[in-house]
Amino acid sequence: MSQPARGELLYEGKAKQVYATDDPSLVWIHYKDDATAFNGLKKASIAGKGEVNCRISTKLLELTAAGGVPTALVRALGPRDQLCLKVDIIPVEVVVRNRLAGSLARRLGQEEGLVLPRPVVEHFYKSDALNDPQINEDVAMAMGWARSWELAAMREYALTVNALLLEFWGGLNIDLVDFKLEFGRAGHTVLLADEITPDGSRLWERGTGRHLDKDVFRRDLGDLSLVYQELVTKVFADTPAA
Ligand code: UDP
Repeated sequence: MSQPARGELLYEGKAKQVYATDDPSLVWIHYKDDATAFNGLKKASIAGKGEVNCRISTKLLELTAAGGVPTALVRALGPRDQLCLKVDIIPVEVVVRNRLAGSLARRLGQEEGLVLPRPVVEHFYKSDALNDPQINEDVAMAMGWARSWELAAMREYALTVNALLLEFWGGLNIDLVDFKLEFGRAGHTVLLADEITPDGSRLWERGTGRHLDKDVFRRDLGDLSLVYQELVTKVFADTPAA
């Protein structure tokens, strides 16, 4: 496969840069080491974070594609670069939860940790200016952010991804507490877009409950760089060195 030519910077987000390529239907995604929390109020550069997120996201997006969920990933271009289909991001973030944590625990005034008897799907409006407020499917439809069939597909895909990831992380003795997904439109289809990373997931070591995710940075629980190196070693333990 020929290497696409990287073109102009189209967009720079908190953790990634998106570049044009010589094919208008494809974009080049570059993962940065920058970490932010609390909607950008807390910032740092975490050595190696971009590479860990990119390698893990590539692996998990390939796993979900093999499990029947269409994704925007075309292929990895290197340890911190991916070639992806250009999509219009749907401004509705989908969070799937298996245990009570984070904003849901706070909203309900409960301790983190309760195992939910069935997964909970929540929706948030993707807006930095508004701090990603929680919405529901009716609001998303009424505001014209997503159509009914798109929301139905997003929910079904999110639950399929959850089942696949529970098995994957469970095999590494890691509990998948929750995670956030973003979807995009390409033509008339809805695709899983963006990333599946420890930045956008809660991963607790089974037995100890130790955080192996971005909460280490958000909550000052230790050195995120070291925790991410430990995680990437576990994820690629069975992969022969290139
Ligand atoms: N999440 C994310 N980006 C956001 C908000 C949440 O990736 O802008 C992820 C977060 O890492 C966690 C899950 O979505 O795995 C649920 O987050 P929650 O709603 O509990 O919010 P938080 O307490 O993380 O702000």
